[in-house]
Amino acid sequence: MAKSRTKKPATVISVANQKGGVAKTTSVASLGAAFAEHGKRVLLVDLDAQACLTFSLGVDPDVVELSVNEVLLGRASVEDVRVECDEGIHLVPSVIDLAGAEAQLLPRPGREYVLRTALEDVRDDYDVILLDCSPSLGVLTLNALTASQGLIIPMPCEMLSHRGVGQLLDTVADVKKILNKDLAVYGILPTLFDGRSNHAQEVLADVGERYDLPVLEPPIPKTVRFAEAPAVGRSILSTSRTSKGAQAYRAVAKSLLTKV
Ligand code: ADP
Ligand code: MG
Repeated sequence: MAKSRTKKPATVISVANQKGGVAKTTSVASLGAAFAEHGKRVLLVDLDAQACLTFSLGVDPDVVELSVNEVLLGRASVEDVRVECDEGIHLVPSVIDLAGAEAQLLPRPGREYVLRTALEDVRDDYDVILLDCSPSLGVLTLNALTASQGLIIPMPCEMLSHRGVGQLLDTVADVKKILNKDLAVYGILPTLFDGRSNHAQEVLADVGERYDLPVLEPPIPKTVRFAEAPAVGRSILSTSRTSKGAQAYRAVAKSLLTKV
């Protein structure tokens, strides 16, 4: 990819919530595709040992030879491991033994800065880099938050989904104090939203005030289309171009264009 000297380095955005099943991976794939539609150069990084993002972009984690694992352990550069997927998006794939990388990172000095340093080499190649975090607040997520300018917190519009957001925000406060003072929370992204449910409406109305954070709009509707997309290795934006879910992610990406 040609390096552009006139453009600013990529904005790095973590998509994190230590709860599983809140649509982190779906949001990374869909926002990435939406940014690509705007002509942005997009890199996605799979930081989850489940490798769902890798799989959903049509890359088989079982045959990946070089992955984010090697990057985190300093054995390969991002340029060595990135692959090009449909929709012109680049991916740093994950593999199942990422959990091993986490354990090997732990005793190392500066372990929280490894990803930030690795991404420095490619930030000029992209406009936006999205980091798909694992469902934990461990060293991989700390690496993501340390490498990022922005954080998006996907949150389903259900009461119990609140639990853990406070803890995540405590971690963000620590990261800002110690590791990365430039980290900004772009907002909560309401996901799996059922507009017919009063309860979901109430949660949506309350959540921004409760955490004193912006709420990204529009909320992402719950639709069965999302379950279908990963099976064909493409995001919902190309498998179901005009669905409400695809349109919602496009609108959220558009609202974020000022930041990238
Ligand atoms: P996470 O990465 O936070 O664990 P995923 O993105 O993998 O969450 O989503 C969890 C499950 O919810 C997946 O099966 C996904 O297909 C489904 N899903 C995500 N967003 C939606 C949506 N808007 N409507 C319906 N199902 C969704
Ligand atoms: Mg995930």
